[in-house]
Amino acid sequence: MLTKRVNILSESITIAITTLAQELKAEGKDILSFSAGEPDFGTPQVIKDAAITAINEDFTKYTAVDGVIALREAIANKLKRDNGLIYAPNQIMVNNGAKHSLFNLFSALIEDGAEVIIPAPYWVTYPELVNYCGGKVVEIQTDDTSNFKITPKQLKNAITDKTRMLVLTTPSNPTGSIYTREELKALGKVLEGTDIVVASDEMYEKLTYEGTFTSCAAVSDDMFQRTVTINGLSKSVAMTGWRFGYMAAANTELIKATKKLQSQSTSNINSITQLAAIAGLNGSADADIAMMKKAFISRRDEAVKLMNEIEGLSVQTPDGAFYLFVNIKKISSDSLTFAKELLDKKLVAVVPGVAFGSEGYFRLSFATDIDTIREGIKRIAEFVESLK
Ligand code: PMP
Ligand code: GLU
Repeated sequence: MLTKRVNILSESITIAITTLAQELKAEGKDILSFSAGEPDFGTPQVIKDAAITAINEDFTKYTAVDGVIALREAIANKLKRDNGLIYAPNQIMVNNGAKHSLFNLFSALIEDGAEVIIPAPYWVTYPELVNYCGGKVVEIQTDDTSNFKITPKQLKNAITDKTRMLVLTTPSNPTGSIYTREELKALGKVLEGTDIVVASDEMYEKLTYEGTFTSCAAVSDDMFQRTVTINGLSKSVAMTGWRFGYMAAANTELIKATKKLQSQSTSNINSITQLAAIAGLNGSADADIAMMKKAFISRRDEAVKLMNEIEGLSVQTPDGAFYLFVNIKKISSDSLTFAKELLDKKLVAVVPGVAFGSEGYFRLSFATDIDTIREGIKRIAEFVESLK
């Protein structure tokens, strides 16, 4: 009865594990959850105030499908100020979260065996969307010996005449690795002369702890023309539940196509969120962003230190985002069983590496308070000891 394209989809495993952990907690179990990719901080007051004003002023009607002009201008200003990218408002489309931006983008570009190159480990949603759209996933495997980054040579070898898109995530979920300007330039060179679109997922931009962040589209004019820049506010200003994301592209035809799709599906995003998002983009929340970033850095440093004290496990210090991608290859070659037993026996929820296309790892989110992190890693140490 159900369509092939829906049957092919799996539920988001990151959300599924987080929901299971919440249910077990509600049953009274002493669960420590490190599965959610979601800041534990509240949304900054200045953003909440903008939303309250929007409600009180009855800004509660339908808006333009692609977002009100003031919001698209705020996005254009942000992209210019932070990323050196010049986009006009008609090159920007506002969506219900960056996940929705990706859904619209893949729907507009991928069909019938079109190949999408996805470096692994990858965020869980990309291959699912490719499959849903009838495309074919082409993985490029990376590991901790190359800091989980693909090389120009790997990219070149993965390209065929069916390649339609390359997905790049910087900083990466789940590894936190960040491509330098030079690395992006070198990848861009490989793409010259092709019509491959780069989907550049920059959700964790504001959570760059080491080095400097560079947008893919900023490395050359050729990359600007072929890149779709995807970003949002879920991670940078703790707005996961508000549902706001956007895409920006030089190609106005592509933006128009996604607008058409959105006009027949969700219409505009929540009008109140739109005005709140302006406050998240225009610099008003910068002090809050700096505070959260500082907290993430100190949690990261302590979590990495404690994790590396566990014999048999190893983890590199992530340059960005809020995840540790922990190598368990000396202990287990089955990350799903590892994660299931860890939850069963020690009530600790993590996401198995296999969900991200990389066996032999698990992902731990450190977007939670330091005491929980300490207790969780202590339990992980006891669990690893029990396996020996
Ligand atoms: N991209 C990446 C890399 C993510 O980790 C997430 C997770 N939330 C998203 C996109 C989507 O975020 P949202 O839909 O909340 O904007
Ligand atoms: N992106 C987050 C994560 O990786 C949230 C879950 C999701 O959207 O799938 O955990």
